[in-house]
Amino acid sequence: MKIARIETFLAPPRWMFVRVETGEGVFGWGEPVVEGRAEPVRAAVEVLAEYLVGQDPLRIEDHWQVMTKGGFYRGGPVLSSAVAGLDQALWDIKGKTYGQPVHQLLGGPVRERIRAYAWVGGDEPSEVRDAVSAQVEAGFTAVKMNGSGRMTPLATREEVRACLLRAETAREVLGDERDFALDFHGRVSPANARRLLPLLAEYTPLFVEEPALSEHMHAVPDLVNASNIPIALGERLFTRREFLAPLQAGVAVVQPDISHAGGISELRRIAALAEMYGAHIAPHCPLGPVALAASLQVAFTTPNFLIQEQSIGIHYNKDAELLDYVADREPFRFVGGSLLRTERPGLGVDIDEAAVRAADARGHAWRNPVWRHEDGSFAEW
Ligand SMILES: [Mg+2]
Repeated sequence: MKIARIETFLAPPRWMFVRVETGEGVFGWGEPVVEGRAEPVRAAVEVLAEYLVGQDPLRIEDHWQVMTKGGFYRGGPVLSSAVAGLDQALWDIKGKTYGQPVHQLLGGPVRERIRAYAWVGGDEPSEVRDAVSAQVEAGFTAVKMNGSGRMTPLATREEVRACLLRAETAREVLGDERDFALDFHGRVSPANARRLLPLLAEYTPLFVEEPALSEHMHAVPDLVNASNIPIALGERLFTRREFLAPLQAGVAVVQPDISHAGGISELRRIAALAEMYGAHIAPHCPLGPVALAASLQVAFTTPNFLIQEQSIGIHYNKDAELLDYVADREPFRFVGGSLLRTERPGLGVDIDEAAVRAADARGHAWRNPVWRHEDGSFAEW
């Protein structure tokens, strides 16, 4: 079996798909993208395709080694995301070739359902009550929301209260038997995080995410010890090596993105590393159906899996959404806030190729919003 052709497709709202086709007619899908930087990832996939075309698609680990190490300069979000999408597509091909779901090839299932959380925007505290209620009615047992909007480097009392109000409101709506997580999104300075974390503890969030930017990793040990709230991070980390420091610092939850952190192959290794520290994985996934399907395959076979992010109904996605690109929605039907295991081969997702090709004809040029403080200076989004 040989790889015959590799195509990429830009797809609104801000995604990209890759389709890897073999000469034998088997094909696989992946999602290589960095949100807001899709074009450079597309170029990286095209360069990697020069190597892959003509190769045996089943030698995934060897290709992973060459793609990540076969250049003198390595790593970074663009290359790691290009590799991630191609890795997903190769696993899809392997599963379809053997007629098995990827999680069976990775050792078999350790659970039958994957608990997922739904997104509540959270940028506007006034909308939290209705938005959380809607997700409870949809059957979700957990939600995540932004912990704040734009925040000044040393928060005013009003900003602190607005953050606490979100948590208080979410807890009131959810009761004690459901969970909410707060995403600080790197918007909150380490000093603000140190102030907020102890005050939030009484609302018992599932975790607080990105209380510091990845470049402030040296602040993470302090933030882990600032309260009893479990700390989560990792959506902006790309290799297992980058996860070592936060795990050593005591984070409870790591959140690698299967489309950024080297795909299925590397996510498995990050999970194994986290297991050594008693930490769990909650894979980041505000992306499309292939990234979610690939995440689920890892979750079904990973003992230290906690909860899955997913983008259906997320506030970022305006022009299209996950279900627009699948021919069969059944694998993404939530039952009590969870997705159920199936024996569908490969990644277990049936991509609507015509919809993907039509989306690429429209394209997109999604860019990260740029926020400013009231004095005009740059603010983290
Ligand atoms: Mg996040």
